[in-house]
Amino acid sequence: MKDTGFQLIDQLYETQALSREEWVELLTHQSKELSDYLFERAVSVRKKVYGDAVYLRGLIEFTNYCKNDCYYCGIRCSNKNADRYRLTDEEILTCCENGERLGFRTFVLQGGEDPFYTDEHICELVSEIKSRHPACAVTLSIGEKSRESYQAFFDAGADRYLLRHETASEKHYQKLHPSSLSCENRKRCLFELKEIGYQAGAGFMVGSPYQTKEELAEDLLFLKELSPHMVGIGPFIAHHDTPFREEKNGTLEETLFLLGVIRLMLPEVLLPATTALGTIHPRGRELGILAGANVVMPNLSPVGVRDKYLLYDNKICTGDESAECVRCLERRVGSVGYRVVSDRGDHCQFVKKEGCINGVK
Ligand code: SAH
Repeated sequence: MKDTGFQLIDQLYETQALSREEWVELLTHQSKELSDYLFERAVSVRKKVYGDAVYLRGLIEFTNYCKNDCYYCGIRCSNKNADRYRLTDEEILTCCENGERLGFRTFVLQGGEDPFYTDEHICELVSEIKSRHPACAVTLSIGEKSRESYQAFFDAGADRYLLRHETASEKHYQKLHPSSLSCENRKRCLFELKEIGYQAGAGFMVGSPYQTKEELAEDLLFLKELSPHMVGIGPFIAHHDTPFREEKNGTLEETLFLLGVIRLMLPEVLLPATTALGTIHPRGRELGILAGANVVMPNLSPVGVRDKYLLYDNKICTGDESAECVRCLERRVGSVGYRVVSDRGDHCQFVKKEGCINGVK
């Protein structure tokens, strides 16, 4: 008879769900053999849903100013050593122009929570990008806002929104953030984003300080409840100018394991092999794809600012031109038997709902 870990993976594969106790049990059973078993199943599921396609997202890190003070993040407002920058609208539009030429059909505008960019400004930017690049999707990742703001961005043309919940346990959330921020509000944002009609992405850091198996179980239960279209996870990596400078990094093994179980729990989810994963291991992103991931997010930001958007130490890809970044990722994805496609890469439910053909609505 198979032992517990294998049985739980079979159960997850068949029912796409586990109870809190079962999640904790599975997470404590991690081993090389169990991971191999999990990845084989995860890969078969992602192949059934998305084939061998890997979607590209062009990441434009447009500001590293932030009003928040998250204890783990290198661009937190109290890091006086951060060299702050903002891209102009023209610079952002140039990134998109280069991006479309390089084959990108999704642009992700990510930044700190920077009040310089008013809602009106973001709306203008989004609608300008959409009018210049009608075949492309725009994703925003600019933090917690009111429902009205999210609605305004959506009405201006934004298609998707990434907002990692960071941890689904309020108690753990309070250990990672100042008391002005709450897990409850973060979750409120995510449910509203979904209601408005965005393809919404949640996610968390693996191995963040004080994280327990129970908290990871909570994250997985929350993800199941929310059922987001995208899930971004990556290892926590210490940044030398934060209160967590001495904390241990998350591991490759645990991140891959979680990618695998998320693929089984949410078969249709868009799941990136993140830059943080590529930072803790030279082939981290390739291994992420082999664990069930199907998205990569090369950097489209101008080279001159890349080493300033330092959320954590030793971040990769800070010196390459965008074109090199894409080619490098195409090679990496190809090396494990998958293929980078030039497509919007919508969640499969959206492809059906909105009748996207070849990525164009
Ligand atoms: N201001 C936006 C974007 C945050 S940066 C927002 O609030 O959503 C994107 C993600 O980077 C964060 O959600 C967090 O999960 C991750 N991140 C930040 N610091 C990190 C660190 N030290 N190690 C690993 N990931 C980190």
